[in-house]
Amino acid sequence: MSRRILQSVHTRIFVGVLSILLVSVFSGNPASGESAAPVVFSVKTSDPVIFITIDDGFVMNAEARDLILSERIPITLFLKGNIWKQPRYREFFSPLVTAGATVGNHTEIHSDLAKGSASHATKDICTGRDSAEAASGQIVNWLRPPGGSYNHATQIAAASCGQTRLVLWDVTVNGEKIATYGGPIKAGDIILFHWRKDLHISLKKVLSEAKRLGLTPASLADYLQ
Ligand SMILES: [Zn+2]
Repeated sequence: MSRRILQSVHTRIFVGVLSILLVSVFSGNPASGESAAPVVFSVKTSDPVIFITIDDGFVMNAEARDLILSERIPITLFLKGNIWKQPRYREFFSPLVTAGATVGNHTEIHSDLAKGSASHATKDICTGRDSAEAASGQIVNWLRPPGGSYNHATQIAAASCGQTRLVLWDVTVNGEKIATYGGPIKAGDIILFHWRKDLHISLKKVLSEAKRLGLTPASLADYLQ
């Protein structure tokens, strides 16, 4: 190898290393060179508030929707993107958005994001965000991974789609059964509901339990960026 070629190789290696270093510095994650959306299960607050989040959207429960509207319950909606795309669903859910519901991203087709390729996960997250934004007119920043299934690659894919957080939960409700990680519901809990036939029953149960404990539903958007 001539001196000239060798010099050129050295220059290319130097430029390569320099660009890797620069990418690491500007991405804020020197280890992987890519940023990852952080995960939240509950909100750290001493305010007596809880957060109601409702997923999927297959079942249009009018009694639940009317209860949310009449009681002015602040909610975050994590509907699937392909639900938002169907006019009859959009018509059903739009009054909640008009009344102030925050809209999140629950992917387009409800993929298990911890399985399959990173490119598939990225596509499902970005498309779900686009559908939610188009239907709601809101900037959609939060991803709720379907089934709560995620890994580090999911967090990177979410960040690449402009999602600032993965919003999980620490309380679930099934009919009248409230499941916590121990004890009653408490300040800062993020509560998972689904659009199901018994959603209104679950909501009433949680509202009465919250009242008993001196807790009030609040908007997650007031507590999370
Ligand atoms: Zn779901």
